[in-house]
Amino acid sequence: MKAKELIKLEDQFGAKNYKPLDVVLNRGQGIWVWDVDGNKYLDCLSAYSAVNQGHCHPKIRQAMMDQADKLTLTSRAFRNDQLPLLYEELCKLTDSHKMLPMNSGAEAVETVIKCARKWGYETKGVADGQAEVIVCNDNFHGRTLSIIGFSTDENARTNFGPFTPGFKTIPFGDADALEQAIGPNTVAFMVEPIQGEAGVIIPPEGYLQKVRKICTQKNVLLILDEIQTGLGRTGKLLAEEHDGIQADLTLIGKALSGGFYPVSAVLSNEAVLGLLQPGQHGSTFGGNPLACAVARAALKVLVEENMVENAEKIGAYFLSELEKIQHPAIKEVRGVGLMLAIELKEGTPGGARAICESLMRMGILCKETHTYTIRFAPPLIIEQQDIDWAVDKIKTAFDGLS
Ligand SMILES: *Cc1c(COP(=O)(O)O)cnc(C)c1O
Repeated sequence: MKAKELIKLEDQFGAKNYKPLDVVLNRGQGIWVWDVDGNKYLDCLSAYSAVNQGHCHPKIRQAMMDQADKLTLTSRAFRNDQLPLLYEELCKLTDSHKMLPMNSGAEAVETVIKCARKWGYETKGVADGQAEVIVCNDNFHGRTLSIIGFSTDENARTNFGPFTPGFKTIPFGDADALEQAIGPNTVAFMVEPIQGEAGVIIPPEGYLQKVRKICTQKNVLLILDEIQTGLGRTGKLLAEEHDGIQADLTLIGKALSGGFYPVSAVLSNEAVLGLLQPGQHGSTFGGNPLACAVARAALKVLVEENMVENAEKIGAYFLSELEKIQHPAIKEVRGVGLMLAIELKEGTPGGARAICESLMRMGILCKETHTYTIRFAPPLIIEQQDIDWAVDKIKTAFDGLS
């Protein structure tokens, strides 16, 4: 079927909760994807960092096929032979005591909020029903009701209430604001090391170190949502390593499966996940053997093929090349590892969307975030020659802006 007809079907029968670029993809390999007309594109979004390992990585694919032939789902009523191995491998890799497997990122966030509250009541001694979690302005933690309830994005919240109580928002990147906001009922502070959906917002140097210190002093759990920043995206396995700290609870998802399957996890020390008792949390698909086999392979190739190191090296190169682009519409170029963005000056005609559409015509797929920011987040296997090719096109797109 032709692209036009497929787009028509989608618009007719689908809910319009997205506004995708009009490119209909049907094949992917490594850093490249192809549309139904055979046009080839460099993927500079990587499904919001879910395909850090590149599209259809052959080793992850093989693990998925092999496991699909054997056993896919048992539910957690019974044990399976893949989950214990994922537990061990992931905990060793991330220096965690325990992990809890879920499916989507939002589910991991919901899980961690439950766990933090439980810790607050049972360990910290907060009075029943009073637990409070502090989050940041412009956060993105997912789309479920509790999560959008503490979003500051009006479009994400309007007319979806009433919302779950027990959250307080403070400015991102402001450690003093955290110190002031913490009260006797505060159980946790949840934050993205770099705000992804807000437009690759990097906090001031040393922010996470300060935050870690405050949380320790005040007996508040530090939760890092690394669903987007984790698993190599910023040039470290976890972004917390840039600040040399360890969160009490860390959320990962997205690239945990290399894009094959929804897999997420809460990583923790014994003190928090150890509190959960049978029947208090669960998921039919969470920890299923297919998901675990895929995640094990996704982690293995990430390490074996030095993707984290590549993200650090190529990311620095990409940033330096983007910084060379001179155009009056550019307000700022920023990034860590392969999580980069160009922010345009407010009022630039057509905004970031115009640049994204022009790049699409030249064979590069990126997505604007908000109105004026273009994010660049290719798979972590990208090489210098591909960056040179892409930067050339990006320059041309800006020239076309006139
Ligand atoms: C994508 C994302 C989520 C939500 O993950 P889903 O799998 O879409 O539910 C949560 N937090 C961050 C930081 C994300 O980037």
